[in-house]
Amino acid sequence: MKTLNDFNFENKKALIRVDFNVPLNENFEVTDATRIISAKPTIIKILEDGGSCILMSHLGRPKGFQEEFSLKHIAKKVEDVLGVEVKTVADCIGDDVEADAASLQPGQILLLENLRFYKEETAGDKDFAEKLSKLGDIYVNDAFGTAHRAHASTTIVAQFFEGKKCFGSLLAQEIESIKKVMETGEKPVLAILGGAKVSSKITIIENILDKVDHLIIGGGMAFTFVKAQGGKIGNSICEDDKMPLALEILEQAKAKNVQVHIPVDTIAADDFSNDANTQVLDINEIPDGWEGVDAGPKSRAQFHDVVMQSKTILWNGPLGVFEMESFANGTIELGNSIAEATKNGAFSLVGGGDSVAAVKQFGFEDKVSYVSTGGGAMLESLEGKTLPGIAAILE
Ligand code: AMP
Repeated sequence: MKTLNDFNFENKKALIRVDFNVPLNENFEVTDATRIISAKPTIIKILEDGGSCILMSHLGRPKGFQEEFSLKHIAKKVEDVLGVEVKTVADCIGDDVEADAASLQPGQILLLENLRFYKEETAGDKDFAEKLSKLGDIYVNDAFGTAHRAHASTTIVAQFFEGKKCFGSLLAQEIESIKKVMETGEKPVLAILGGAKVSSKITIIENILDKVDHLIIGGGMAFTFVKAQGGKIGNSICEDDKMPLALEILEQAKAKNVQVHIPVDTIAADDFSNDANTQVLDINEIPDGWEGVDAGPKSRAQFHDVVMQSKTILWNGPLGVFEMESFANGTIELGNSIAEATKNGAFSLVGGGDSVAAVKQFGFEDKVSYVSTGGGAMLESLEGKTLPGIAAILE
């Protein structure tokens, strides 16, 4: 696995695929610079080697050239984060861009225009990728967020850099973290899967049953398992058509010696709103008119014990409707337990969608070992897929 350390970038132009798909407000100001900050170590390392950086990214989903999706809007923010001047150019391929790239001096940065102004980008067009490849000497992929896409700049372009391509430090860190859970994790290994739907997590569950010792199934998706086992779940969310699969998963887990932990109680609400009436109920005794919206006290205590026993922890998906303050406590307590286990030496990885939002919202970001920057890319990795953007560097 080639990383930045395998190259000396002195007098070299690095063509770096970053993920600068950041949120902007109505004045086109960056409202969350996490993705820019995450790319900083790679860019600075190359500049310190005496190289120059050509940064390429997409922003949003433009249809052709659309000013509101211009990467020029974010150039100032990139400059502030990096502390280095950032030159911009009005395109991402073509003669002018090639001339600008060619005149780049060591220590300088050029930010290309939005790759998705060309439909060839998402189509994975080879000619377009070849045009991009003319801009740099070494290709660096540091965009985990798009590594599951076989787009021109994330995957196809790598074909033109044989022996001259590597992972940036962010992408390398993401790969390492997943490996630490899925391959080399110290036992006992625990996966916590929460969130709304079983259907979106099935492939993950099936893949991780071979890797983990404990599996916590929490959040809304637990109700499909509870109902499948004959429990009364009232108005709780449930995917009836997935009930046979839920039973099958439990069978598989037993056969593979994986201990499955399903909540035993729940905070039930009489309405899907923050100021609904609530009561604590056994998870399989929820009357009609009530729905489970958060983990109950016994379940929280049980999950705490499992977390504290574990040496490797993967967390994907909240334990309740954490967006509503009244139903966030189960998720917060779980975050606290994971933080404590991490302090005691466990490795903890949080990844994929809403658990990342929860971790940030409740301030656990620095208390877990690693928070993944990729939603879909993380989920596909947990499903056991080799991401095209990663495979293209390894080839
Ligand atoms: P996912 O994207 O599958 O990880 O699901 C995240 C969503 O699951 C969040 O928006 C939560 O509000 C939701 N969720 C978690 N627990 C429940 C529950 N008991 N009932 C309804 N929605 C839930």
